[in-house]
Amino acid sequence: MNYRHIYHAGNFADVLKHAVLCLLVRHMQKKDKAFRVLDTHAGIGLYDLSSEEAQKTGEWRDGIGRLMAADLQAPVAAVLSPYLDAVRELNPTGDISRYPGSPKIARMLFRPQDRLAAMELHPEDYGRLSRLFEGDYQVRVTELDGWLSLGAHLPPKEKRGIILVDPPFEIDGEYDRLVNGLATAYRRFPGGTYCLWYPLKKGAPIRRFHEDLQALQIPKMLCTELSVKSDRDGTGLSGSGLVIVNPPFTLKADLHVILPVIKDVLAQDRYASQRAFWLRGEEAPEET
Ligand code: SAM
Repeated sequence: MNYRHIYHAGNFADVLKHAVLCLLVRHMQKKDKAFRVLDTHAGIGLYDLSSEEAQKTGEWRDGIGRLMAADLQAPVAAVLSPYLDAVRELNPTGDISRYPGSPKIARMLFRPQDRLAAMELHPEDYGRLSRLFEGDYQVRVTELDGWLSLGAHLPPKEKRGIILVDPPFEIDGEYDRLVNGLATAYRRFPGGTYCLWYPLKKGAPIRRFHEDLQALQIPKMLCTELSVKSDRDGTGLSGSGLVIVNPPFTLKADLHVILPVIKDVLAQDRYASQRAFWLRGEEAPEET
């Protein structure tokens, strides 16, 4: 386990993932009833962007750095406000030096009745995450293989939940593990809202991944992807995607508002692109 998210915190992939996570949380909160977020690969929760590691790659500058500096039109700012407000809250002076990871973002948006179960397997990162939430009765941090939690921690006792599966993709077979993990989890908790993250880079088996997901016969599956550059040079990530199972009915429309703008703001070359489409659902296989 070599992956450390501090090198990537706040990058373009985090922007899409965390903006969508906020929309999922806010949608759950349209009902008073409590819900649970299960974050299977949680990271350390709060990132110091002035740290040597974050400065070394500087990835956040082309992600949240650009977005915070952008002049967003009102409809776009409105959809992004739960996310951008969370980042602003941590950086009250306007200079961005702290960035919230997925567990922290979810927690910042919670009402008193909402709960978070966060899994982190790296011992050091687990230690930091559990210290971050020490004494917080709404959060439980567990040093557990996140893939196991898709069996062991579902369904949540609230019977309402968001499951974020955000593995590091540092070993082969993570696309297959995502498909198999979703199949396991969905059998246990078909009413959950799932959000699966995956990388886009040269040679990534995206078509087969999508086909494997479609073969699960899960009725509602939305997909969104953002590429910030061409994958032709084959170095690093060119983009990332999210598969959202049982998405809020408003999500696709919200994505259509924010994605073109996020793409323009974060584009690193003229090959930047974005799309949101149903992998399975009433409108499948339409693409935009
Ligand atoms: N979800 C976080 C966020 O959005 O802020 C970022 C998570 S990062 C991409 C992946 C994390 O998963 C790393 O912190 C890594 O240590 C952890 N990890 C790797 N393998 C794991 C496993 N099998 N179970 C749980 N955590 C794991």
